[in-house]
Amino acid sequence: MLEPEVEARPWEEQLVVDDESYRTQLAYLFERSAFYRDKLAAEGITAPSEAGGLGDIAQLPLTEKAELRETHTPESPMGTHICAEAAEIVRIYSTSGTTGSPSFVPLTAGDLENWVTGSARSYAASGVTAGQRIVSTYNAGPFVAGAALAAFDRIGLCHIPVGTGNTERLLRSIESMRPEAVVLTPSYAAHLAEVASERGIDLPGSSVERVLVAGEPGGGEPAFRAILEAGWGARVTEAMGVGDIGVSLWGECEEQDGMHLGARDFVHAEVIDPQSGAPLALEHGAEGELVLTHLRHRAAPLLRFRTRDHVVVRASPCPCGRTGPRIRCVGRTDDMLIVRGVNVFPSAVRDVVGAFVPEVSGQVLVRPRASGVKQEPPLSVRVELARGHTGDTRLADAIRERLRSVLVIQTEVELVPWGTMKRSEYKSTLVERGR
Ligand SMILES: [Zn+2]
Repeated sequence: MLEPEVEARPWEEQLVVDDESYRTQLAYLFERSAFYRDKLAAEGITAPSEAGGLGDIAQLPLTEKAELRETHTPESPMGTHICAEAAEIVRIYSTSGTTGSPSFVPLTAGDLENWVTGSARSYAASGVTAGQRIVSTYNAGPFVAGAALAAFDRIGLCHIPVGTGNTERLLRSIESMRPEAVVLTPSYAAHLAEVASERGIDLPGSSVERVLVAGEPGGGEPAFRAILEAGWGARVTEAMGVGDIGVSLWGECEEQDGMHLGARDFVHAEVIDPQSGAPLALEHGAEGELVLTHLRHRAAPLLRFRTRDHVVVRASPCPCGRTGPRIRCVGRTDDMLIVRGVNVFPSAVRDVVGAFVPEVSGQVLVRPRASGVKQEPPLSVRVELARGHTGDTRLADAIRERLRSVLVIQTEVELVPWGTMKRSEYKSTLVERGR
C-alpha cells in the first residue's frame, strides 16, 4: 500500500475527514463559483450553512455535463464554474468530446498534485512496486490520461512510454526491456494478445506479470478478464477515472474484486438511480449511476457530477486492508438497453458470450433495431468465432440459451468468422446502431 495511513483508514473516520473538507469546499464554491451560487440559489440555498454537511448532500441538485457546457462563452471558455484566478492555473486538459464539443479541464498546482497522488494509489493497488518497469500506451496529448503518467514516477516505477497505436514498438519494448507491467485499454490488451499469438510471439511467457487496464469497462468482466489473463499469462486489474473529476480515481487491488477509491480525501462518491436521480445507499450489491463530488479542488470543483458510468458496489471487507466501498463499472448509462422491461448492458452480453471461449473469439456486437433505449425482443447479437472454428446451429443455440438464462432476454445470435470484427488500439464499441 502506497499510503497505508490513508488507504486503510476506517471508513467512518474517512467520512468525518470528508465532511470537514466538503463544508470548506462548499464555502469556497459560494465565494467563487458563479455557476454554483446561481444553481443552489435556484433551489433556495443561498449560504453554505443552508446546504449542511456531507450527510445532507443528496438534497443538493445534480450537475449535468450539458449544464456546464451551456455556460461556455468566448469570454468564459472554461465555463462559469471556474473558481481560480488565471495565474493559479498550471494546466488545462480537454475532454475527447465524445458527447459533444470538447470541454476544458483546468487545474491548479494543488489540483494536479492531488490527481497524481490519487492516481498513484490507484495504480499501486495493482501490486506494482518501486523499481519495477512499466510500459505505458497512453499519449500525453490533450487528454487527462496524460496526468496518470506522473503517477508511475510517484510510485517509483521505471516508466517506458510507448504511446498509442504503435504495436511494433510495444512488442519490441516488452521483448527487450523486460517490463513487469504494462498499462493500456482492455481492447488494446485483447488486440495485442491476438497479434502476438498470430506471429508466434510467446506473450504469456514474457516478463509481464501485471496488465493494468483502464479507459473503458471490460477489465472487471470475469470472462473478458479470463481471456486477457490467458493471452498475457499475467494478472489483470483495472483502474478508472472521470475526465472532469480526476484521472484514475479508482484502482483494483490484487484481490480483483472491484476498484478501491484511490482518490479518497479528494473525491466523494455516491450512487443514484439513473432514471429518477434518487440516491442509493452505498451497500453491497447496490447498482446505479456513479455521482462524484470534489472535496479539495480549486480550479473548477464539481458538486454531485453525473458521470454516466453505471457501477455495481462491493462493500464486503477486502483482504488487502484498504477500506471503503469498491465499485465495478459495467458500462455507460447511455449504452443501457431495455429489452421488454429488462435492463441490459452490452458489456454483460460480452461477458456471457465470453464463457464460450475457445469456440468464440470473445468479440461481440450488440445491434439494437430501434433507436433509443427500449428494444423489442429478440435483440440481435453478432458473435465472432475463434480462429479456425466454424459455427453451427448448436453453438448459436447454446449462446442464445445462456443469454436467456443469465440476462433474461431473448436474442438472435449471428455467428461470424474470425477476423470479421474491427479490433481497436484504443477503445471498442460494443453497440452498432443505425442500420
Ligand atoms: Zn483490496
